[in-house]
Amino acid sequence: MDFSHNVASLSEMVKLTPPILSRDTISKKIVCTRPMRNGKFNLSVGHHLGKIIVNCYGHGGSGWTTLFGSVNKTIELFQNIDPNKHRAIRVIGSGCMGLTAAIELDRLGFTVAGISTKSLYDLPSWRAAGYFALVSVKTSPEEQENLNEIGLHTFLSYQIIDRGEHPYITREAVKYMPIYSSIDTDAGVEDLEERGLIPPRQYVSLDFGNGVIHHGYVKYMTYFMNTTTLMHQLIAEVNKRAIPIQLQEVQSFDEIAEEIIFNCSGLGGRELNHDTSLIPVRGHLIALNAAAGDGHMDYMIYTKVKQDGKEEYVYLFPKNRSVIPENISGTVCSGVLGGTFIPHVDQLPQTEQEELDQIELKRLLDRNSEFFHGHPFIDT
Ligand SMILES: Cc1cc2nc3c(=O)[nH]c(=O)nc-3n(C[C@H](O)[C@H](O)[C@H](O)COP(=O)(O)OP(=O)(O)OC[C@H]3O[C@@H](n4cnc5c(N)ncnc54)[C@H](O)[C@@H]3O)c2cc1C
Repeated sequence: MDFSHNVASLSEMVKLTPPILSRDTISKKIVCTRPMRNGKFNLSVGHHLGKIIVNCYGHGGSGWTTLFGSVNKTIELFQNIDPNKHRAIRVIGSGCMGLTAAIELDRLGFTVAGISTKSLYDLPSWRAAGYFALVSVKTSPEEQENLNEIGLHTFLSYQIIDRGEHPYITREAVKYMPIYSSIDTDAGVEDLEERGLIPPRQYVSLDFGNGVIHHGYVKYMTYFMNTTTLMHQLIAEVNKRAIPIQLQEVQSFDEIAEEIIFNCSGLGGRELNHDTSLIPVRGHLIALNAAAGDGHMDYMIYTKVKQDGKEEYVYLFPKNRSVIPENISGTVCSGVLGGTFIPHVDQLPQTEQEELDQIELKRLLDRNSEFFHGHPFIDT
């Protein structure tokens, strides 16, 4: 039986302001690669020539959503085998996982000798959109429960941040707000709804006030995580704790003097751990500038759409600052549009990668423009 008519007639009409989209409202085109691991991300303890290797990598498109749960889990695994707080620990990687692992280990009284990192600013943790949802993680069905637990732990940590009670992250770093998805989109917050941690979904229609109305949508509440603010605050906390950060590409665990290594190297785990389950998944985002307006900064969109007969995604998140290595204090932006999930692009020749990026960014603008304004992007 088709219930869509009933759902539409019961739906509340939500009036939303769309972002203004034109050549002049685009601030930056962002290309970045998610560290995706097939089956589950790697939270484990192993050994390598007498060293203890604690792995925490492969979180795909949900690293921020699983951050505190993952770090807590790996530290717990490590404490079970080596509770000696005097043995020096080296952390590899300065993404959200590496920084948080270093801070949490230090808070527990472990001896963190330092963080070694290939790059401090050119990484997914800075570029991520900031949607709290378990999406784009390639988890096997047996792992779903563990994943939900890790997501839950992290959600509770963001609630603590939101209440202003977190020991080193201030409440400006997160915002609890509505997210709209089509009924057939897996929004990635269903487990939170089932546990009663967010209000039950509401069936809605979206009215952009310009003749564009979408029926058959669902409203949830979840966190927007301001990844730029979070990264700045994590680095500030690492500095406050006098944990040295060294710019160094680690080729092999053998190079590290310390006998305990927290391997938070994201995609770097592929080479360091010879881990063939790790897949690069490219993502494209468009950062908007102030001319796009700000009426769209108090809601989020994450929804499946059809484009040229293919299933694609439209998303909008209220990111307000975007950091790149050339500008580490960040450019002010008025939201980001997305998104793509394209595996194995890094294995193509460079020219093919660049062609693909151009095509995907254009398609992304077209489908966002269709979604918000009812026509393809007009490049003027
Ligand atoms: C476009 C895009 C949008 C995203 N949106 C979201 C979102 O909305 N919500 C969400 O939860 N997640 C999102 N993510 C995913 C999230 O960004 C990642 O899962 C998360 O940042 C992974 O953090 P990490 O610390 O494990 O890895 P990274 O941020 O990749 O950091 C890895 C670190 O290891 C270092 N490193 C690697 N190899 C070596 C080596 N050999 N020697 C020394 N250092 C090394 C790197 O330099 C880097 O410092 C998004 C990702 C992308 C690309």
